[in-house]
Amino acid sequence: MPDVSQTRRRFMHATATVAAASTIPAAMANNESTSRAKRTLTTDVLVCGGGCAGSAAALSAARRGAKVLLVEKAPFAGGIITSVGLPYFDGIANIRDNRVVVRGIPLELLSKSGVCAADAKKVAKHNPTIPNTFEFKRLLDQSFQEQSSNLTVLFNSFLCDAHASGGRIQSVTLANKDGLVTVQPKVVIDCTGDADVAAWAGAPFEQNAEVQPLTLHFRVGNVKNEPNLSGPCRVALEAAQKRGELPFYYGPGVMFMFGKNEIYVHGVRVPADPTNAADLSRAEMQGRADAHAMFRAWKRDVPAFADSYFLEAYPWIGVRESRRIIGQHVLSEEDLMTSRRFDDAIATGCWYLDLHPNKTTIGSANDFKPEKVQPEPYDIPYRSLVPQRIANLLVAGRCHSATRGAHASTRVTVTAMAMGEAAGLAAALSLESNTEVAQLDGVKVREALSNQNAGPFTDN
Ligand SMILES: Cc1cc2nc3c(=O)[nH]c(=O)nc-3n(C[C@H](O)[C@H](O)[C@H](O)COP(=O)(O)OP(=O)(O)OC[C@H]3O[C@@H](n4cnc5c(N)ncnc54)[C@H](O)[C@@H]3O)c2cc1C
Repeated sequence: MPDVSQTRRRFMHATATVAAASTIPAAMANNESTSRAKRTLTTDVLVCGGGCAGSAAALSAARRGAKVLLVEKAPFAGGIITSVGLPYFDGIANIRDNRVVVRGIPLELLSKSGVCAADAKKVAKHNPTIPNTFEFKRLLDQSFQEQSSNLTVLFNSFLCDAHASGGRIQSVTLANKDGLVTVQPKVVIDCTGDADVAAWAGAPFEQNAEVQPLTLHFRVGNVKNEPNLSGPCRVALEAAQKRGELPFYYGPGVMFMFGKNEIYVHGVRVPADPTNAADLSRAEMQGRADAHAMFRAWKRDVPAFADSYFLEAYPWIGVRESRRIIGQHVLSEEDLMTSRRFDDAIATGCWYLDLHPNKTTIGSANDFKPEKVQPEPYDIPYRSLVPQRIANLLVAGRCHSATRGAHASTRVTVTAMAMGEAAGLAAALSLESNTEVAQLDGVKVREALSNQNAGPFTDN
């Protein structure tokens, strides 16, 4: 367990109103004491973000025996799956023959969700879905609790700063109900999706001026389950857009995914910069407005929706793309499309280069043919998790080091989990061998993964 007792300094309490009220003149706010609780935690491995990559990273490092602190801003783990409500385990199997190409923790979570056998070699669909996202939260809770001797979880905790000196991260700051908390880790794994911690620590990264659009997922109840419902739904959205009620949309994907008369919709499309707090807030509001505009259009024009009701939108709008670190190797489209093999491969990807445009695309998500950008299962090298300049930092998930095109494939859920598992094991190995993660031999990480029935499919 991290040492929570090391330092605990308390200052006079500021009132919440002073901190929150934007109407208070700046001069008056400055005269108030800037009091806050401060405490310092130490840990072997700090995993930042408990989404797809982070959950796998934390489990992987803790199971190997490292003392791990997992920090997540949501009150639960699972990231996109639980906070944006995305049930897909894309990347688990090759599209051509449904052959499983990712084992380890992603396959374990899929099988524990009741979708396949623990040692499945094939799955029924190349893009299987889990039946229930709440149960997935519980599965992660239980998996973490099984590691409680090594793993401490802090939910409702927002990482907000990192301090690096001498080429290492010395401390990371988070904010939660304890106030501002300083964490002093030996190794950091950034799984925030946005490379927040890597960026704050000064690791080089890139972010395109225009990134893929954001999407809020929502569910509508009491819809008549009729065949080809997407057709009339599409027509209704075209009409709503013409009336000026809906700026952009895609598809729409209208799926009876979780219940017989309940649809799950991904069709919202909001262009925004997800690393800009104000623009992200605007996007959240636009996403809710667009989701409700879609629902109203269907209720108005599609008979199957006559008695329907808006069930719920998931808490967060989903971010597809933001920062990507520039690591020791930048994985490229060419690496993917030529199935380039790497000695230090630690994971396999297999999804197509799934790049959503910032415009309406009627009937589908993309304005290109996915089969034209469908690679064979490909290697992801350890060096694409290793940033430049910071020796004790790994970055896993959708913010690892890849070109924009390659990232459009590596960003899917299972591939992110596989990278997280590798990063967690690498962090533990670095501590065992007293070697910085930046200097660790990726071939050794691959061997260790292979020994526990994980890692790239070529070792299968
Ligand atoms: C709308 C949408 C639809 C998608 N559709 C599919 C699909 O159909 N199939 C598929 O496989 N993939 C899909 N993807 C892509 C995929 O889901 C993500 O790219 C994938 O989840 C990446 O995993 P990750 O671990 O990097 O990020 P995430 O799963 O997003 O995890 C990041 C975690 O870090 C936490 N976090 C972030 N910043 C902080 C902070 N500062 N402090 C504390 N915690 C923080 C977040 O709350 C989150 O839990 C979709 C993505 C989106 C947005």
